[in-house]
Amino acid sequence: MPELPEVETVRSALEKYICGRKFLSIDVRNASLRWPVPVQKMQDLVAGQNIERIERRAKYLLVHMENKHILMLHLGMSGVMRIVDKATPLSAYDHLIFTLEKQQELRFNDVRRFGFVDVVCADVLSEHPRIRHLGLEPLSKEFCGDELFAHSRKLKVAVKNFLMKSKYVVGIGNIYASESLFRSRINPKIAAGRISQERYRNLATHIKTTLSEAIAQGGTTLKDFQGVEGKPGYFRISLNVYDRAGEPCRRCQKNIKRILQSGRSTFYCSSCQKR
Ligand SMILES: [Zn+2]
Repeated sequence: MPELPEVETVRSALEKYICGRKFLSIDVRNASLRWPVPVQKMQDLVAGQNIERIERRAKYLLVHMENKHILMLHLGMSGVMRIVDKATPLSAYDHLIFTLEKQQELRFNDVRRFGFVDVVCADVLSEHPRIRHLGLEPLSKEFCGDELFAHSRKLKVAVKNFLMKSKYVVGIGNIYASESLFRSRINPKIAAGRISQERYRNLATHIKTTLSEAIAQGGTTLKDFQGVEGKPGYFRISLNVYDRAGEPCRRCQKNIKRILQSGRSTFYCSSCQKR
């Protein structure tokens, strides 16, 4: 599943390739994504619009258009955005086709159809039901760990699950939660309310570095963006714990453990992450 660094990579690729261009027309080939595609809004408010800039909020891609509306896209579990020549054969999973100038198309391909698209007026974006409850961006200056500390007091939920709620900080998925906790030497099972302010600040720093390293690496996949092979080119930073159960910890050589938390795998080193 694309996590925040992958979405950020798609954002910067889209910015490079479609900013300043125009959506000439739109073909909705399959309107049943995670939520129904607003076909009429797409035709009325997206078709014919110049593309001004592309932002990201959590894992939402926000395409700002000339008419002060935003095309909002979420890649879901398996969504891929590709720019291809018009002549490229369509795949059964190319659900949305945005025609661009120069005989090119931006295609939204999504095998599992957990992605979605919406069109919203820029003035009311912050009120959008998918946006309004979101916490801080992890790479923003405002995010420093103090808010995690403040909101976690008395909470018994495990810190890993606490981190993955998007209410206080967004975009910390399963991989980056495990990796950041390892770097911070925090046991993923410990109650969120038992972690000190200093450790939360340290965790925030590690969240930023882990995500930034992955984003920096993502830059190398940009060349694949226009590829017709349909490979999304998702990447992995060199992972310390994620998906390494039974392998030796890079710090202490003890075997990495895998446990289940809320049905998701957590990987950690019980020796380096004692408390
Ligand atoms: Zn270790």
